[in-house]
Amino acid sequence: MHSPIIQELINHLKYLPGVGNKSATRMAYYLLEQNRPAALKLANSLNEAVDKIHHCESCRILTENSLCQLCSDPSRDTKTLCVVGSPADVFAIEQSRIYKGYYFVLMGSLSPLDGIGPNELGLPELFKKISDNDYKEVILATSTTVEGEGTANYIINELSDFPGDVTRIAFGVPLGGDLEYVDGTTLGHAFSGRKTIIS
Ligand SMILES: [Zn+2]
Repeated sequence: MHSPIIQELINHLKYLPGVGNKSATRMAYYLLEQNRPAALKLANSLNEAVDKIHHCESCRILTENSLCQLCSDPSRDTKTLCVVGSPADVFAIEQSRIYKGYYFVLMGSLSPLDGIGPNELGLPELFKKISDNDYKEVILATSTTVEGEGTANYIINELSDFPGDVTRIAFGVPLGGDLEYVDGTTLGHAFSGRKTIIS
């Protein structure tokens, strides 16, 4: 059996997604036997990140400043807002270089059975942000899974009085797919082929 301290380290490494007992044990012994400097760096990085990283006040992406790099970039298009499910979706859209506006990150999808309602996704903040700004277009780029569609529909209903356009990406994104796994070209088509829902 492992010593209690090593066992505890193994248990904590298993918090990571996709890491089971075997991988966690290998990681723990690697760090302790072969790379203690890396173990310390990892521990310090985790400490610092947990201490300093929080949600951007404007888009909810993770950042160490009050506004993230994207929200504090004045060269972006202030007239469009893109609503996505996760930070990974923002990175995927940024890589496609097709979009230059701002973002709002829901950090999930509506899922009432799991206790994820409008408040958990920051939807009141989203609607306030939309009414406080003079957007010409709100792009709903939530995933095309059932939950992503449900979330988009909820937002569409709430925005029925929005004076600009509300659009939904559609073309090119496979149904049931998460945006982060879609390649840049396909995502580019999805953006240029978006359809207007409210105008
Ligand atoms: Zn931001």
